[in-house]
Amino acid sequence: ETISENSGIGSRILVFVRLRPMAKKEKEAGSRCCIRIVNRRDVYLTEFASETDYLRLKRLRGRHFTFDASFPDSTNQQEVYSTTTAELVEAVLQGRNGSVFCYGATGAGKTYTMLGTVENPGVMVLAIKDLFAKIRQRSCDGNHVVQLSYLEVYNETVRDLLSPGRPLVLREDKQGIVAAGLTQYRAYSTDEVMALLQRGNQNRTTEPTRVNETSSRSHAILQVMVEYRVKDAAMNVLNRVGKLSLIDLAGSERALATDQRTLRSLEGANINRSLLALSSCINALVEGKKHIPYRNSKLTQLLKDSLGGACNTVMIANISPSNLSFGETQNTLHWADRAK
Ligand code: ADP
Ligand code: MG
Repeated sequence: ETISENSGIGSRILVFVRLRPMAKKEKEAGSRCCIRIVNRRDVYLTEFASETDYLRLKRLRGRHFTFDASFPDSTNQQEVYSTTTAELVEAVLQGRNGSVFCYGATGAGKTYTMLGTVENPGVMVLAIKDLFAKIRQRSCDGNHVVQLSYLEVYNETVRDLLSPGRPLVLREDKQGIVAAGLTQYRAYSTDEVMALLQRGNQNRTTEPTRVNETSSRSHAILQVMVEYRVKDAAMNVLNRVGKLSLIDLAGSERALATDQRTLRSLEGANINRSLLALSSCINALVEGKKHIPYRNSKLTQLLKDSLGGACNTVMIANISPSNLSFGETQNTLHWADRAK
């Protein structure tokens, strides 16, 4: 039932922007806010950090962007979840796949949005909580099996974040692309999930040069699988599966400078192949191209059945308010604008 080839009609991707509050460090460095959000939709870049930034801005002619919704820094986690992801959880319960990405530079708020904290859980935790609440409400209670897997793509190597060890091999079988031996964690309630995901997040590969930091080059993918039984008109029992993928992408800062070049010429360069391949797939989907280059990276292979076609795709672009991050913010907004 999975539609892997594009229909030829441009896929609609919902694109959101989330502005995070100014950090203490940024304040201390004397930074000013260079972002204004109006009517929860329009984003304006309002200040210039340097002459170079100003020239870039003129060249791109973009200082005003509009998205499906733009969240000011006062927006709470629940509001971000409800606006961006709640509908996808409902769709998964009807057997439709979906994916939600957080995109942006390191420090822009991706992990806060996806995972969050114990006091302020993010989209991953709120989605699972909502999923269990919705399952409880249905009359066919007891029919649903919820399974979680949490994995990482780092340097084109796939690892299991719930059971770290040797890299996983991707195999193609009847169901599509699967990571052989990946842990499928059977979840019964929300309570256990936050701790599980936090532990998983600590297993993400750290940069050799920045030992105490979660790597800015690793993609973390949570896949929530819901299996359930339905009866058709002839009272035959059918098994259905819906899958929701929630992705905390690698920092976009290194991919940006090389945006215009092709993947091939970047071979060997210190850039993130999966991030570039994702950009190519999204652009191809939005433009309604027949061929979508899923095979170009591990990330896009893993998400082949959850991107485009009949799937729901959501992008959350995370940005800092500080004029010290002006260039990165502008690149992120420009990228998000192209994904619409
Ligand atoms: P990234 O994952 O994009 O590198 P993080 O999510 O780690 O960025 O965010 C960087 C810092 O900013 C963290 O200390 C995080 O707690 C904080 N932060 C990010 N977004 C918010 C927000 N919306 N509200 C409060 N703090 C935030
Ligand atoms: Mg992070």
